[in-house]
Amino acid sequence: MSVATTQITCSNCSFSASDSVNWGHFSYELDDGTLIPLQRSLGWCNHCSDVVAIESLSPIPMQQTDILGRPRKSVFELKLELQTTKNRLRNIFGFGKDRIARLTSDLEFTVKEERENDLYNNLVESRAGSPRCLRCSLRDIHPLKIPDLTERHPPLSTGFIHPECGGQIMACKSGFRVSMRFDRVRIYDCEGCFLREDIT
Ligand SMILES: [Zn+2]
Ligand SMILES: [Zn+2]
Repeated sequence: MSVATTQITCSNCSFSASDSVNWGHFSYELDDGTLIPLQRSLGWCNHCSDVVAIESLSPIPMQQTDILGRPRKSVFELKLELQTTKNRLRNIFGFGKDRIARLTSDLEFTVKEERENDLYNNLVESRAGSPRCLRCSLRDIHPLKIPDLTERHPPLSTGFIHPECGGQIMACKSGFRVSMRFDRVRIYDCEGCFLREDIT
């Protein structure tokens, strides 16, 4: 799978960066060793003098629809549907196996997602400090708003001023596609400080 990168430049100097700094696997490690996905966005770090990934620290709302826009089923609804399907099909050899396998996989995914979202929202609630830069772990950061971009459109301003030269930080679709294969995960403690990098 390949994805088009967004190029980030300055209207006044030769500064250049890419949104690919935000790609890959980032996790928080909880006190019991559980890893949960770290929600993040693009930002400017004054210490790194660069575009970096920064913590979001916004609670994850309950999802009303799935990725295809269909109403999302709760764990309870999926369990009920799975049980009903099993009961209905138990005497019919070989029939409905695919449906049971799909429902089982949907249920496992939803249970995992709900648990991770709960753990993440608890972490956000318990956090004492503001978001950190995910490169240097310091807090001298500013979120970047990337405007809606289309291919072959001239660069648009992010509204952020490049602290080093006073130019506008701009964004555009680069036209480059980068293949996405991430075999490493960057791991942070619950306060957003970098701990280590592991192989997935
Ligand atoms: Zn500049
Ligand atoms: Zn930094």
